[in-house]
Amino acid sequence: MPKLNQNYQNLKESYLFSEIAHRVADYALANPDKKIIRLGIGDVTMPLGSHIIQGLHLGVDAMASPDTFKGYGPEQGYDFLRNAISAYYAKNGISVDAGDIFVSDGAKSDTGNISELFDMDNVILIPDPVYPVYVDSNLMSGKKITYLSGDADNQFLPMPDKNIHADIIYLCSPNNPTGAVYNRQQLKEWVDYALTNQAVILFDSAYEAFITDPALPRSIYAIEGAKRCAIEFCSLSKTAGFTGTRCGYTVVPKELVFAASDGRNMSLHAMWNRRQSTKFNGTSYIIQKGAQAAFSPEGMRQCQDNIRYYQKNARMIADTLTRKNIPFFGGIHSPYIWFECPNNMESWDFFDYLLSNAQIVGTPGSGFGKNGTRYFRLTAFGTQENTAEAMERFNKLF
Ligand SMILES: *Cc1c(COP(=O)(O)O)cnc(C)c1O
Repeated sequence: MPKLNQNYQNLKESYLFSEIAHRVADYALANPDKKIIRLGIGDVTMPLGSHIIQGLHLGVDAMASPDTFKGYGPEQGYDFLRNAISAYYAKNGISVDAGDIFVSDGAKSDTGNISELFDMDNVILIPDPVYPVYVDSNLMSGKKITYLSGDADNQFLPMPDKNIHADIIYLCSPNNPTGAVYNRQQLKEWVDYALTNQAVILFDSAYEAFITDPALPRSIYAIEGAKRCAIEFCSLSKTAGFTGTRCGYTVVPKELVFAASDGRNMSLHAMWNRRQSTKFNGTSYIIQKGAQAAFSPEGMRQCQDNIRYYQKNARMIADTLTRKNIPFFGGIHSPYIWFECPNNMESWDFFDYLLSNAQIVGTPGSGFGKNGTRYFRLTAFGTQENTAEAMERFNKLF
C-alpha cells in the first residue's frame, strides 16, 4: 500500500469557486427571469489581439514543413522570446539579463513549484489575504507558514517587522485580491530587510501591466539590490489575455547564491535550471511565437487597448463605491476592487445579499484568508455594458 503525503490533509477544502457556482446556479434556477452579472472571476474576457493571433499562426505554419518544424525546444524558452522579455523590461527602465529569464506555461506553476528549492525549516512569510497558490504549495510539502497581516491599517500592504527574522517572503504587487500596490519606498524597505536577513523575496508581478503611474515599481528589480535577494514571477495571462493560451516567465538572477547547511554555496539560478530541465520540457513553440508577437510594439499596443478597457470598468466600480462612501482598495493600478462589506456584513452573507438584491456575483474575501472575512472582491474583467448595469443596480442598494 502506498504511504500517502499526509500533508494534503492540512489543505483547506478549496470550495470557494465551486461554492460560488453552486449558489449562483441555485439562484438562477429559482429566478429564471433575472439577469445575473458576473464580476467575480479573476479571468480575462477579451479575445487575443490580432497581432498575437498572427504570431500564433506563424508558429503553426512553421510546424507544417520539414525545414521549419520544431520538436523539443530549450527548457528555458527560445532565445527570441527571452530577448523580447528582456527588452520589455528595458523599456520600463529595468535591466534583466535574458539568460536569467525562464519561460514557462504560467506563473501559477512557477510560484507553486519554486518552494521545492527550499528546505523544510525556513521561516516563510505569506501575506493574508493572499493568492491561495503560495499557501497551498507550501502546505503540500509540510512547510510551516507565518502569516503577514494585511488590513485597512496598513492599506493591505504589510511591511517588514525588523524584530522578526524571515528566510522567504512572498509578495504580490499589484495585489490579487486587494489591488493594493507597493510604492518604491515600501519595496525598498522589503529589499533592505531581505538583504539584512539574507532572505529571498518571491515577487509576483502578474499585474504589472495595470500600473499607470510611472513612479510605481512594475518590477522588484526597479529597486537597487533586488537581484541579490529576489525572484520575480510574471505572466502574459493578465498582460496579454493568455489565461487560456498559457505563457509565463520567471527571473532567477545568477546573483542569488546562498550557503547550504553544509557550508557550500548553492545558486538558485542553477537549481531552478536543474529543476526545470528535469521536470519541464518547455513551453510550446507555437505559444512562444504568440508571446513574441505580444511583446512587439504592435502587440503591446493591442494589449494596452484591452487593459484600458478593463481599467475603465475598474474606474466605474471605484466611482460607485466612492459615491456610496464604502472604503475600498485597488481599482486604479489593478483590475480588482477590494472593499469592506457594508453594514459590517460577513463576506458570504454579503455575497448572498448582493446576488439576491442586485443579481451581481462577486468573490467573498474569506476565500483569500481570514483577514478577508469582512471584505469583498469585484473584478473589472466584465463587459463595459454589464459593469455599468451592475453599478446602476449597486447604486440603488442600501
Ligand atoms: C492570474 C495570476 C497569476 C497568473 O497565473 P498564470 O498561471 O500565469 O495564468 C499569477 N499570480 C497571481 C496572483 C494571479 O492572480
